[in-house]
Amino acid sequence: MRISIIGTGYVGLVIGTCFAESGNDAVCVDIDAAKIRILRKGRSPIYEPGLEELIKKNIAEGRLSFTTDVGKAVRRSEVIFLALPTPQSEDGSADLKHVLAAAVDIGKHMEEYKVIVNKSTVPVGTADRVRNLIRKHTDVEFDVVSNPEFLKEGNAVNDFLKPDRIVIGSSSRRAIAIMQDLYSPFVRTGNPIIIMDERSSEMTKYAANSFLATKISFMNEVANLCERVGADVDMVRKGIGTDPRVGLQFLFAGVGYGGACFPKDVSALVRTAKEYFYEFRILNSVQSVNRIQRKLFVKKIAMGLGNRVEGKLIAVWGLSFKPNTNDMREAPSVTIIEDLLKRGAKVHVHDPISNDEAKKYFGRRVKYFKNNYDALRGAHALVVVTEWNEFRRPDFDRMKRFMRGHIIVDGRNIYNPAMLHEKGFKYISIGRNVPHGG
Ligand code: NAD
Repeated sequence: MRISIIGTGYVGLVIGTCFAESGNDAVCVDIDAAKIRILRKGRSPIYEPGLEELIKKNIAEGRLSFTTDVGKAVRRSEVIFLALPTPQSEDGSADLKHVLAAAVDIGKHMEEYKVIVNKSTVPVGTADRVRNLIRKHTDVEFDVVSNPEFLKEGNAVNDFLKPDRIVIGSSSRRAIAIMQDLYSPFVRTGNPIIIMDERSSEMTKYAANSFLATKISFMNEVANLCERVGADVDMVRKGIGTDPRVGLQFLFAGVGYGGACFPKDVSALVRTAKEYFYEFRILNSVQSVNRIQRKLFVKKIAMGLGNRVEGKLIAVWGLSFKPNTNDMREAPSVTIIEDLLKRGAKVHVHDPISNDEAKKYFGRRVKYFKNNYDALRGAHALVVVTEWNEFRRPDFDRMKRFMRGHIIVDGRNIYNPAMLHEKGFKYISIGRNVPHGG
């Protein structure tokens, strides 16, 4: 099938490449000419395991191409995906300007029947808005489908090729048949394609992300209470997560959720609720717990340093909002480091992939280290913000030799409190206020 994807970011690039990999002829469009130039050389502008290999392979086999020419892409394609940003606007709602601008472009360039598929996360009612806008610019027949994306950065290729489920929101039989055909290679193992109306589909994506964010905030509150009562949140997680009704995922206590999706999507759902005169009380709390959790973490760092942060050298391991991605959007590291700098600390940072991306946020206000041990030289404390695998089993004796103070503040609970105590570290973690924990 000839398809195009408008917006070649984390989502657009992955889906374009994966649809090409399953035999389609895919064109990815972006307004960022520099990005398109990089992609044409077969290089990925984002870090995503397995992606660059697939890009190279599908370019070489003639199924994947990149352009800035939206008109050309629209005219040649039967299905057009919108994978455009829907960032948070000032009032908390999703900003639809990119999606609506693309709708106008599509309307102007359509010459025959098209299916326009919204992959962006958009508020309920957007399919109707996109349909009305395109209709203003064309008499040609078309359908607008809502098809939210559930891939996770860091595992995006795998998630897209082997999805748990595919949600398609449409009231057009013709469009549904085309979508089922397009997705058939990905559902061979019986994972369902769930067909519903557009509004339910749009709501599904927000409800999914908001529910996962709720699990995280819930567990962070459990962790905060564990510290007070002397319980271990890791044990509690195992205790409740093994109940299949609860599930083990998204129950890690830590520094709170971040990234390009959860913060803005929770906020947009709260906003949608307000527009319909409904107060989404649980989500209000989810947001405030998340804000407070980061502040509590900085307080813990300060406490570890005897409440004297000014002039102290703090090493931070992990900057991306989660491991296996270089995405720093809404990363907890950003608020935490900003807070430390404001309190007068000097900060050394290391991330296996995101040092360059981090420069956009901190510029020359922090020092960047390629090697995680080098970042520790002379540090009064180490702060772990992102749980990259390579941080899990470091050489603690070597760390001790490099560091001036032997304090580790672990925002992801990746170390064993008893073991670190034995090694002579002051170890502070989240919700594990049991012997030697913190
Ligand atoms: P992104 O910012 O990584 O990528 C968006 C791309 O669109 C950028 O390359 C930008 O240059 C391009 N763009 C902007 N305006 C354009 C226009 N008019 N024409 C062509 N290109 C244009 O965004 P993303 O993370 O891929 O997210 C896209 C959507 O998918 C959002 O709604 C997001 O909520 C949703 N989503 C994201 C994820 C994720 O993990 N990142 C997962 C599921 C859903």
